[in-house]
Amino acid sequence: MTTNNGQRTTNVQRPMIEFTDVRFAYPHSEFELCVPQWRVAAEEHLAVIGPSGSGKTTLLYLAAGIVGPLSGTVRVGGSEISRLTEAERRSFRIRNIGLVFQEFELLEYLTVRDNILLPYRINPALRLDCDVGRRVAAVAEAVGLAATLDRYPQRLSHGERQRVALSRALITRPRLILADEPTGNLDPGTSRTIVSLLLDQAAQTKATVLMVTHDHSLLERFGCVLDLEQLVQRRVRTSANATHLR
Ligand code: ADP
Ligand code: MG
Repeated sequence: MTTNNGQRTTNVQRPMIEFTDVRFAYPHSEFELCVPQWRVAAEEHLAVIGPSGSGKTTLLYLAAGIVGPLSGTVRVGGSEISRLTEAERRSFRIRNIGLVFQEFELLEYLTVRDNILLPYRINPALRLDCDVGRRVAAVAEAVGLAATLDRYPQRLSHGERQRVALSRALITRPRLILADEPTGNLDPGTSRTIVSLLLDQAAQTKATVLMVTHDHSLLERFGCVLDLEQLVQRRVRTSANATHLR
């Protein structure tokens, strides 16, 4: 694996994500994802590309602990999340991971402010204090939503809705941000803006970013690109084997 600037990737001591001998299959499905070894360095900005159905979303779900492997280990930030129960994985995810999806998944009956604050309202593990209130204002300012905080989502454009979803992922200051085609419904200009906001905010908080995208014009913004299709050709079934470390 090489980085965009041509450097050969090398090991560092503390990867943010580490998959070892991971095997995953959905029930009643032919699809199988095998990842002998895969690492993503802390603070890396990695784009994940590959054809539809190649397992990009599944890879993110495994990294997020939304699904667990049939065998093998998944470590995130040094914690072996594949050993945790589903409830423990959810708690780990709330505290450490920010998720952004293609569909914005906003609650229409909540204002922009309350949509951004949603992680704090639904998770007792997170404390809503005045520091968080200040951060909402700061994040909203950074992503250009300051004037919309008291509006409801139905009055927002697609780009603004995705900014709300992005703000919601950033508000807990996660160490890892997983974004699954977050620009899939956006025009090219808005897509570039959203990716810039995502990567700039992540750089400020030293977060690691994995972003699935079909838009190759966005790849130059990332330090590394993982092409799932290249990796799958080595096996009859879907497999991945890569190291993504500078
Ligand atoms: P991608 O994100 O690259 O399009 P996915 O990870 O969503 O791919 O899906 C990989 C494969 O797993 C596909 O063949 C898809 O149909 C299958 N798949 C995804 N989700 C499920 C599920 N919940 N149950 C069974 N099969 C699934
Ligand atoms: Mg997908």
